[in-house]
Amino acid sequence: MKIPTTSEVLAREPFQGKLLIDGAWVDAADGATFERESPAHDKVVAVYAKAGVADAEKAIESARRAFDHGEWPKMKAAERATILRKVADGILARKEEFALMETLENGKPYEQAMSEIEGAADLWQYAATLARNLHGDSYNNLGEDTLGVVLRDPIGVVSVITPWNFPFLIVSQKLPFALAAGCTAVVKPAEVTSGTTIMLGDILIEAGMPAGAVNIISGSGRVVGDVMVTHKDVDMLSFTGSTGVGKQAVAKSADTLKKVSMELGGKNPQIIFDDCDWDAAVDATVFGIYFNAGQCCNSGSRILVQKSIAEKFVAEVVERSKLVKVGDPLEAGVQVGAITTTKQCETILEYVESARKEGATIALGGSRMDTDGGTYIEPTVVTGVTKDMEIAKEEVFGPVLAVLTFDDLDDAIDLANSTLFGLSAAVWSKDFSTCMTAARRIDAGTVWVNTFLEGNAELPFGGYRESGIGRELGRLATEDYTETKTLFMHLGERTNWYLPKG
Ligand code: NAD
Repeated sequence: MKIPTTSEVLAREPFQGKLLIDGAWVDAADGATFERESPAHDKVVAVYAKAGVADAEKAIESARRAFDHGEWPKMKAAERATILRKVADGILARKEEFALMETLENGKPYEQAMSEIEGAADLWQYAATLARNLHGDSYNNLGEDTLGVVLRDPIGVVSVITPWNFPFLIVSQKLPFALAAGCTAVVKPAEVTSGTTIMLGDILIEAGMPAGAVNIISGSGRVVGDVMVTHKDVDMLSFTGSTGVGKQAVAKSADTLKKVSMELGGKNPQIIFDDCDWDAAVDATVFGIYFNAGQCCNSGSRILVQKSIAEKFVAEVVERSKLVKVGDPLEAGVQVGAITTTKQCETILEYVESARKEGATIALGGSRMDTDGGTYIEPTVVTGVTKDMEIAKEEVFGPVLAVLTFDDLDDAIDLANSTLFGLSAAVWSKDFSTCMTAARRIDAGTVWVNTFLEGNAELPFGGYRESGIGRELGRLATEDYTETKTLFMHLGERTNWYLPKG
């Protein structure tokens, strides 16, 4: 894979992004703009139109019109599928540009960004297959005079709000499935990683998406996000982000009783039993916490290690962590890039400090790296953690591993289920019974068995408890964006209620 050099990339003019409203690229009504600097290079890499309330309202109006009077919801599913496949092809044709934009705005290694863009294209392909398989139901067993038919209708206008950690992958977990169902949408990426979502606009237009079916606006969550959450003409909110903002969004959306689909935070445990495949478990621990600089809802941010092996296991994790290559995300072989925002960098360091204050030991790292620019944090391992500490309960969203220990399976499950989250978990053991018993008792939307952080479009994804509401992906992914309508059909003469006939 050829990676563009840092000097070549930084010499380019910043990307200029506008708002896609009703099929046209426009400036914000008040002309406002905002800039994004690369967190790895401290250089402005993009300038965006900054949507305000009026722009958000226009975008919603356009999506509403496209749904109520446009062709997209009425189109044959096969035709919609063709357009979604063209979008997938369009993404792949420009994957280098997309990967570069993700790297520059998020700080993630280019090679990783590339595989996310390819994965995102696969989601558009998968959604195309679901479009043609979406169907209702019928009941021919309700008696001779009754036929029941259940229709599936697209739910309407969907607000899609996404975070900055996997910008393009996450918009691709939502938008193509909403479109496959026949919905129209208003999409808002996170302020700091708007690039690839804006770039998608041109691909949608080229693929033949009707004007207004997808509107893309960049801007502040508190301003335009709020309009998208509260507006009466929006039928569904599909949100991925922090649990705190997610809860507020659910509360605010309640006034219009729109449907909500929420993908929120996690504090995901990897449970390491003493009979695990040692090397694989050490590797997955390191991968689980440092992948994407720990800025994953699915990060394995807690390991629960059986006491009999804890000391030796953790010592190996520390040694392996020292080998992780952190640095310029445009350099080949770099595994961990920059922390996406300075604010996030500060939050991570505050959590490390809080762990220290609560009596945990910083066995490795714990500081911002002394680099010539960029926001980088050392791979960090915190030991001596107990379940009541902040570092054990809250999502740090950084390369900080909390290590807890347990005696037996009951103890491990108690620890695993001891946070308010329930997004994902992993179990490491060579014993089938141990794996299955643990997997069945853990409260989480995904449990990996002897692996970590793998996924497929076919497998549903989402969280228990405060990790979210609803599921994305999987064969039912498009159904979430529909309403059902029951047709109760009476055949033959009806018996009167008021006056019996004759
Ligand atoms: P965030 O909650 O700060 O922001 C998410 C999105 O919401 C952004 O687009 C933001 O602009 C918008 N927003 C902010 N305030 C808003 C408001 N008042 N009304 C409407 N929208 C608003 O999250 P983040 O910091 O961008 O992302 C990190 C979080 O996302 C982490 O908690 C992570 O666990 C979570 N996440 C979850 C999943 C999942 O699938 N479960 C996946 C990725 C990230």
